[in-house]
Amino acid sequence: MTTVQAITFDLDNTLWETDNSILKAEAKMKKYLESVAPQWMTDFSIESFQKTRASIVRERPEIAHKLGEIRKLTLQHWFLQKGAQNIEASRLAKEGFEVFYSERQDVKPYPGTDETLEILARKFPLAVITNGNADVLSMPIGRHFQFALMAQDFHSPKPDPVMFEEALKRLQCKPEECLHVGDDLDHDVGGASKLGIKTVWINNKNQPTQYKSQADYSIKTLPELVTLII
Ligand SMILES: [Mg+2]
Repeated sequence: MTTVQAITFDLDNTLWETDNSILKAEAKMKKYLESVAPQWMTDFSIESFQKTRASIVRERPEIAHKLGEIRKLTLQHWFLQKGAQNIEASRLAKEGFEVFYSERQDVKPYPGTDETLEILARKFPLAVITNGNADVLSMPIGRHFQFALMAQDFHSPKPDPVMFEEALKRLQCKPEECLHVGDDLDHDVGGASKLGIKTVWINNKNQPTQYKSQADYSIKTLPELVTLII
């Protein structure tokens, strides 16, 4: 792959396993809210939270990808519905979100991630394109990236081209000179390849390999990138 000039990465389930860290962060948020507003939390569960969130997303589909905003609106709606006054509902929603958000940053990169990024960053500018809201630049592995684009700052999430186009502009790369690495066939592989960006599919969940052909390359773990590219 001699033409590669820059590499962009997805975060969730590409550099770390996400589902557990979200569950952990939600449990911490719930515990916090139970301690400060027990009267309104008796029937709060992750399932009831998700149900409320789904109704908020149905009402406001245009901000469905602004995950922080949706989470705060969901919590606010919950407390209002339970009888809290506006100001209190907003305060609890903000505090609950802050507890969740800070815990959500506690992710453990897959084995070999830091070393792989370190090697690649010596040769290529690296950047992040994520639909999630992890603050990667504040993490130790963030030092390898030139910038991180988050869907919540754009009108649409991946696979929409908007973030890929912004990354190409900032990296001063033509699409065919850029490589995008991600686990999601639709968001990452589909979105990037529509623009002519080369794609590497991280198939770390052992999905059927018939999907492989949609991406230019397919690997199972991030460290395989080094032999693929260098
Ligand atoms: Mg992902």
